[in-house]
Amino acid sequence: MKFAARHTFVGNPGYRLLPLRFRRLPWDQSRVLVTSMSGDWLIAQRNDFERAVTGQLDPREPLFADMESRFLISADPERATLAPLLSQYRTRKDYLAEGPRLHIFVVSLRCHHTCAYCQVSRQALGQTAFDMSESTARHAMDRLFDQPAKTLTIEFQGGEPLLRFDRVRQLTRLIEQRNRTEKRVLRFVIASTLHDLTDEQLSFMRGHGFELSTSLDGPEWLHNLNRPRLERDSYRRTVEGIDRGRRALGDGAVSALTTLTRRSLGVPKEIIDEYRKLGFHSISLRPLSPYGFARKTDARHGYVIGDFLKFYETALDHLLQVNREGYFLQETYTRMLLSLLLTPFSHGYVDLRSPTGTGLGAVVYDYDGRVYPSDEARMLAAMGDRRFALGRVDESIETWMSSPGMQLVLDAGVAEALPTCADCAYVPFCGADPIDHYARQGDSIGHRPTSDFCRKQMGLFDTLLQRWEQGSSVDRDILEGWALRATCREGVLEAA
Ligand code: SF4
Repeated sequence: MKFAARHTFVGNPGYRLLPLRFRRLPWDQSRVLVTSMSGDWLIAQRNDFERAVTGQLDPREPLFADMESRFLISADPERATLAPLLSQYRTRKDYLAEGPRLHIFVVSLRCHHTCAYCQVSRQALGQTAFDMSESTARHAMDRLFDQPAKTLTIEFQGGEPLLRFDRVRQLTRLIEQRNRTEKRVLRFVIASTLHDLTDEQLSFMRGHGFELSTSLDGPEWLHNLNRPRLERDSYRRTVEGIDRGRRALGDGAVSALTTLTRRSLGVPKEIIDEYRKLGFHSISLRPLSPYGFARKTDARHGYVIGDFLKFYETALDHLLQVNREGYFLQETYTRMLLSLLLTPFSHGYVDLRSPTGTGLGAVVYDYDGRVYPSDEARMLAAMGDRRFALGRVDESIETWMSSPGMQLVLDAGVAEALPTCADCAYVPFCGADPIDHYARQGDSIGHRPTSDFCRKQMGLFDTLLQRWEQGSSVDRDILEGWALRATCREGVLEAA
């Protein structure tokens, strides 16, 4: 294209362009995706679009009405109101009004696994110095209720949080007691391996409406290789935990996440079939993060993002096939992206927000009383870099928000203002991820043309748009069904 994105025509065509961005479709260079500032979009012939932006579109052409209804042009700029566009924009960003809804309590760093790609800096079983103290827990609970959000998701995480279940139990009771006057909507989640779950723990969880989030990397051989225990029985223990959790809390209360190592990339169908075999209706296919032990062992476990995207395309095709056969199974991150592409609503998922969800959508209370704006910031701190730490649990939220760490996040936290993102057609659906860019590129603003985050996002958006546009009506219905299922619940993608 010769003209710039967000071009505003100032000739005398009888209409005015509104802020827009565009992208040539990689699978059909003769057409372009055109998006409005609020995320409305259409696909047009490139020649027609060029006529539109150079003031040559006839108002009687169908494209004119399409562009007008999607707030890409205004037929009568003097008298037209932008109120509906601004209302759409507000709806897209309505998570901003509430403050953080996701609160992660790291009750212990101890764990019985020795996963080679561990992302959370685990500690050995006997190291009780890495458990959260009662004083830290009480301060963290106070800060939780200092936040204005009406709905609070409280996620207990580790290490292995079941190793300090007494602290989980105490915090749950304290939070519920305080909530008698606060009257917030509470959601409790434990991210755990589910190994060594006791009946007493399950009984407590049932009484307090807990959900369980665990990690299952695929078939037995793969899970045991990725998540070794001395006894080589990691898969068996996890599956038993899933089964016991479902019987105690209900099928829908147990979810699982997959971390993809290099060896996972060769077996997308086997991973998906394992989830189907175990009766899951949701799977989360997470590429490896550049944190914790993952980076140290990159040569064995790591891969380039292009390999992940190839894996993803095969996995998506297989997921569609599974759904065509009548078994409902959706991929979590895909569902979030599709809901942004295909519905006007926001779901508040912290990684897909702009302004960023880091610190504005989530807070992490570490075992030692330090506070971080995301789990990734905590992982970086565990690697010796505390630049994104917000402060301590006994300090005020105002102190956290004015901390140098939060300023660093905010300076790079608005995608629409970042180089390259500012002109990208996908920015209304994308997020700013300052800490990921810092971890990978040493700069929280980052360089999008060489950014793994950007390549992943761009690749996923292109793939999903193409599948939706060119797929059969059955496949379209499946993808739209996933989009509509994305709810306002925080999509927590971190597990043990
Ligand atoms: S990260 Fe990449 S895909 Fe996302 S808005 Fe920025 S340039 Fe576009």
